[in-house]
Amino acid sequence: MARKKIIAGNWKMNMTPTEAVALVEELKPLVVNNNVDVVFCVPAIDIIPAMKAAEGTNINIGAENMYFEEKGAFTGEISSNMLVDAGVKYVIIGHSERREYFAETDETVNKKVLKAFEHGLTPIICCGESLTQREQGITIDWIRQQIKIAFLNVTADQAKTAVIAYEPIWAIGTGKVATTEQAQEVCAAIRVCIAEIYDAATAEAIRIQYGGSVSASSAPELFAQPDIDGGLVGGASLKPDFGKIVNYEG
Ligand code: PEP
Repeated sequence: MARKKIIAGNWKMNMTPTEAVALVEELKPLVVNNNVDVVFCVPAIDIIPAMKAAEGTNINIGAENMYFEEKGAFTGEISSNMLVDAGVKYVIIGHSERREYFAETDETVNKKVLKAFEHGLTPIICCGESLTQREQGITIDWIRQQIKIAFLNVTADQAKTAVIAYEPIWAIGTGKVATTEQAQEVCAAIRVCIAEIYDAATAEAIRIQYGGSVSASSAPELFAQPDIDGGLVGGASLKPDFGKIVNYEG
């Protein structure tokens, strides 16, 4: 069965609750496409107002992060239960900005992935290499390690429903998009890695996005690749351009 594309926006630390509602209202008519799962991953404080603004549309409101503990004395954190209660289905885990600025590791990513699955959330699990790693020719080894740790103790049934976002760090927010060949090569390698960890059926089912300066002009070629099942989009998700990315087939 063909995998349904999933195109997610990552708003990062942008948009007050008032601005979030206005942006959802603006993008609502532009992101209609029933062939694609459309997700807006928004700051925690925007989740509930954005959810209300998106009611009755094809937009799923997702989260940008969550904590791996169930509840308790973890000031400032958001639990998976809180996300579920707010109506969230998708949560980004292990974005490179969280790894760089908030000391997230492959191990904490794995804990978060397990907790997300425990509560029925779908994790969008980020991986990606630095420019140095790419130049050293260790991209695939590095990504395979990230994937193997992220999926420790995740069952095949859970893995089938997961989303992986391959995001070369050097392409995030820089305007430098990986070439179609570079993006496809790594996404294909991720699928091989999933087949090795699990089996061919799991590898066939899992959805793998590309992320890194995706724009309305780069999306059609990227999303046409056999192992690229959509995108995780930062900057362009805050603009009407996101509608063009979601409707990349024209
Ligand atoms: C991201 O935040 O995941 C991202 C890919 O950002 P941008 O599209 O701005 O590079």
